[in-house]
Amino acid sequence: MKAIRLEARPRKNQTPASDGLPVVACLEDAPVPEPGPGEVLLRLRATALGATEQAVLSGLLPLGVAPGSEFTADVVQDREGELVGARVAPLPSVPCGACGPCLAGNATLCPVRLIPGRSARYGCLAEYFLFPRRGLFRLPHGLRDFDAISLLPLASALNLPRKISLPGRVLVVSAGGLGLVVAASLRGLRQLLFLAMPNEDAIESVRKFSLHRDPGGRFPLVVAACDGPGVLARALDRVAPQGTLAVLGMPDSPSPVLPLVHRELTVIGIGEGEVTAAIKCMEEREVCEILSRARPTIFPFAQADRALAHAADPSNLRVIVDNLDQ
Ligand SMILES: [Zn+2]
Repeated sequence: MKAIRLEARPRKNQTPASDGLPVVACLEDAPVPEPGPGEVLLRLRATALGATEQAVLSGLLPLGVAPGSEFTADVVQDREGELVGARVAPLPSVPCGACGPCLAGNATLCPVRLIPGRSARYGCLAEYFLFPRRGLFRLPHGLRDFDAISLLPLASALNLPRKISLPGRVLVVSAGGLGLVVAASLRGLRQLLFLAMPNEDAIESVRKFSLHRDPGGRFPLVVAACDGPGVLARALDRVAPQGTLAVLGMPDSPSPVLPLVHRELTVIGIGEGEVTAAIKCMEEREVCEILSRARPTIFPFAQADRALAHAADPSNLRVIVDNLDQ
């Protein structure tokens, strides 16, 4: 089978024409892995490449990470359970179940929880890969793979109105795909929603869902949908004095503290969210329609290395690796 392996780019290849990233993705032959206790063997169906993968390629995450975080897959081997044949997707994280926060019922705060795409063992950028059985859930029949790979960011976005009361005007700042997920999750509420992202065409295409172009100025609540470089800094700049910055996704740099103090801002991290809420939301087709406006670029698995290089460019809104028909 084929799998992606990451390696440090040799210095001599850092020509001005190269993308300048310190990590390069190689598509190589690899043995099909053998599941250990509690693990199942999965065959990849589809995966979306986003901020986590950009972070890996930019060297923000350790090189030992097994890449690939959001996926749908078929279970092909499950020695201890009954999942064989099931179509599954990952939970946002797999808590240890034994630490203080886990025992207190705050599993999303488990400091050693496994997060897909950020662990050394469980990445989905291989035709066959391992995953802990208890970190998976069965996908409902009606949900298409290309929609289901956005369930985790949607679950996180749906956490937003649960964590803070939303003011009348909300600005969502993003590089692209995650901003559309956040906007899709918030539409239908009473707030006026504005989108600040580089791709003007994508904003234009979602205007009929009452999502508006960024009018400029500062906002009492700014959502940083961190799916690319510089999003956090741009979002921070747009928060009104005594306003709130809500952060989702994978911030690319530590935020400067000074503006927080000067403008008396509140910063809140939006956690992982409930997958069941995301499935329910996605079953209302409008969300999938908004997501489809991000016009994904789709690569077959045989070009997964090219897909990663494509995803490393933040102007590419949504990149999908499709292994459904192989
Ligand atoms: Zn724990």
